[in-house]
Amino acid sequence: KGEKHMGSGFQFCEQEHINKNMERTELSSELCEAITENEFFMHFQPIIDLSNGEVTFAEALIRWKHTNKGVLLPEKFISIAEDSGLITRLGKLSIELVAKQIDRMMAAKRLQKLTINISPSHFLSQSFMEDLKEILSVYPKMSSFITIEITEVVFLLNMEVAKKTVIELHDMGITISLDDFGTGYSSFKYLQQLPIDVIKLDCSFIAELDIDPSHRNIASTIIELAHSLEIKVIAEGVETNSQLVFLQDHHCDFAQGSYFFKPLSVIDFLHMQRCISLPAK
Ligand code: C2E
Ligand code: MG
Ligand code: MG
Ligand code: MG
Repeated sequence: KGEKHMGSGFQFCEQEHINKNMERTELSSELCEAITENEFFMHFQPIIDLSNGEVTFAEALIRWKHTNKGVLLPEKFISIAEDSGLITRLGKLSIELVAKQIDRMMAAKRLQKLTINISPSHFLSQSFMEDLKEILSVYPKMSSFITIEITEVVFLLNMEVAKKTVIELHDMGITISLDDFGTGYSSFKYLQQLPIDVIKLDCSFIAELDIDPSHRNIASTIIELAHSLEIKVIAEGVETNSQLVFLQDHHCDFAQGSYFFKPLSVIDFLHMQRCISLPAK
């Protein structure tokens, strides 16, 4: 009986794999037209200042309003866009989507910055700066209101171009944040050498805080090291009160996660309460 069970389990996995590949192929063939038709929109996740509970930033997170599949999350289509070379077009579109909301978003909640995720291959492409400058020429105020989120992958892929682009952004008054910190090399070398303003502690890391004491030590060390370089720290994926208390105790600057707010539509964002009461220290 056991063997039969294993057999069908294996078949099930294989079938699941085939279905996933079929879905990928299908989405891949639809993506190009979806970009042309602009089937995309942004959700915004509030980022809270842990010193006073105020929403100070928001991260723009792209969604695809698929004609018959409903709303798709980036895990379904970003890697497809990267593999097919469509990421430069999709990336430009995501900057435009933020640009269109910037006045409304900034005015409503006294936000300091909106953060925009840029894929490594788009960031390293020549079109990135061209696209950004083109959009900024239409929305000139935008440069002081955005933070560009990149991952350290850009430095591993092409240190020279990545460095040049980071410096150029900094000179334009755009702040830079290093996303998913704690998952890769987490090298402080880049942080020391480049004008990086913020690091984001990855949610997988935050999830471990409740489980694994060694992660707590590493997290507090990362926060201290970042502060010694005058870099701010945002914790991603905060889901529990104990994670929040740990982060407050270790002087983490900002946090986002479902404990506070899930990513919100623009309308919900405009209606949210802009100050959270935090547990007393
Ligand atoms: P990320 O930049 O690390 O974004 C954080 C992800 O964590 C978001 O997933 C967010 O919805 C999710 N999250 C928020 N709160 C919680 C929580 O409490 N627990 C957990 N476990 N997760 C939480 P999302 O929206 O599905 O985006 C996934 C990734 O897709 C992003 O990861 C980012 O790398 C990428 N992405 C999103 N929007 C864009 C975009 O416009 N352009 C590009 N190139 N990539 C994007
Ligand atoms: Mg991000
Ligand atoms: Mg992240
Ligand atoms: Mg992440």
